[in-house]
Amino acid sequence: MNLENKTKSIWINGIWKDFTGKTETIYNPATLEPITEVDYGGEIETAEAIQAASKAFSSWSETTGRERSRILYKAAELMTQNAERLGEILTLEQGKPLTEAIGEVKGAASFLLWYAEEASRGYGEWIPPSSQSKRLLVIPKPIGVVGAITPWNFPSSMITRKIAPALAAGCTIVLKPAPETPLSAIEIMKIFQKAGIPDGVLNLVTGDAEAIGKALLESKDVKLITFTGSTAVGKYLIQESAAHVKKLSLELGGHAPSIVFEDADMEKAATLVLGSKFRNNGQTCICTNRLYVHESIAEEFTAVLTEKVKQLKIGSGLEKGIELGPLINKKALDKVHVHLEDAVEKGAKVICGGTAWNGDLDGYFYEPTILSNATDEMIIMSEETFGPLLPIQTFKKEDEVIHAANNSDYGLAAYVFTENTNCAIRTSEKLDYGIVGINDVFPATPEAPFGGIKQSGIGKEGGHHGMHEFLEKKFISIGIE
Ligand code: ADP
Repeated sequence: MNLENKTKSIWINGIWKDFTGKTETIYNPATLEPITEVDYGGEIETAEAIQAASKAFSSWSETTGRERSRILYKAAELMTQNAERLGEILTLEQGKPLTEAIGEVKGAASFLLWYAEEASRGYGEWIPPSSQSKRLLVIPKPIGVVGAITPWNFPSSMITRKIAPALAAGCTIVLKPAPETPLSAIEIMKIFQKAGIPDGVLNLVTGDAEAIGKALLESKDVKLITFTGSTAVGKYLIQESAAHVKKLSLELGGHAPSIVFEDADMEKAATLVLGSKFRNNGQTCICTNRLYVHESIAEEFTAVLTEKVKQLKIGSGLEKGIELGPLINKKALDKVHVHLEDAVEKGAKVICGGTAWNGDLDGYFYEPTILSNATDEMIIMSEETFGPLLPIQTFKKEDEVIHAANNSDYGLAAYVFTENTNCAIRTSEKLDYGIVGINDVFPATPEAPFGGIKQSGIGKEGGHHGMHEFLEKKFISIGIE
């Protein structure tokens, strides 16, 4: 796929802006070759986009759910029709295998579809009063202009998971995608353009993260910031949003434990753990970061899993049959190796992998790695690795493993593998996580609420809960005679 040397990437009030001067080069993480250059905007462009979104809000917020729904349906249809081309662009800029990228685009479209359906269902309430002389109403109102800041690990679905419910609710948006992956964002804007979104309802600004973030934070017109990214940036947004008491919806880091009980279906559990850890090369906030296996099956389970890991094909995501692409950048690659070295120094045993991939591409590849003898002192047992590195620890008792699993500042996702219903229900209730997968490692879906507790975030995305993040509940108290 050949892209222009320069790609316009700032879209405000329905117009693709001319280049502002400074640009940023986007690289293919598999080959380190430049793909294209995009515009590097900042405060000025963001202020302009906020102004356009504020102006558009007065009419967009007055449209009916059905009207908003029609545009979301059209966008979902266009995205699905173009899934292969969009998947290729996604792989180019992000690195994940093409099948995963196409899957992500289809998943992204499914958020548009689901919220097309939900747009007409922003129900209010009629509350029975305690006095005959009153009537009590609650009506949901779109909150206003939304600032959306998205990450590079799911460059397509993290955008639609935010903009679909915001648009369905009647909000207008200024989107800032991750600097590594703006191309998927540009494509999504073009889809909405084709779908007939009114000017200014959706705007895109690429460039200086801090400057764009500051402009969003400092504007009184931006009523909510929805963010997916690191806990560190999430904490910064919490601090800085205090000035205007801005609402936040935050999907932050995770450190998911996976627990394999002695009665688990070994083959099924190993396949699922493989998917959970190595999908997107471990660069998923809900992917397994630590694996606890019952000591009675640990040896056999590790052998079954290792066999599967050794068969994973590494390479450029655009090549057929590739299952493991590159990491996003050098910093990510170095982090994986630091976690590995720390673990080995503290007594972990390398079962497979343990080094950067020695293949024929220049990108940021690391061999899929399994470590046994993991202990709590190792960095990898408490810090998010975001790479293809899996530590295994054994356990004896249910209470003991639940305690270990909960011993984390994070609380996004946890997984349990068991064929025992009692164990499944007990453990899912006791795990302090926003999402628990029982024999399931792919819980993200448009119809259900996704989100963490503790330092993993605030608020939910997906389901009717996702749209209500963007709706204020206005209470109307009526005195009658
Ligand atoms: P990562 O380290 O995985 O890239 P980040 O939290 O830094 O995670 O990035 C997630 C998103 O937050 C990206 O779009 C990034 O550009 C943006 N971001 C980073 N720093 C800031 C900031 N100070 N203000 C606003 N957005 C930011």
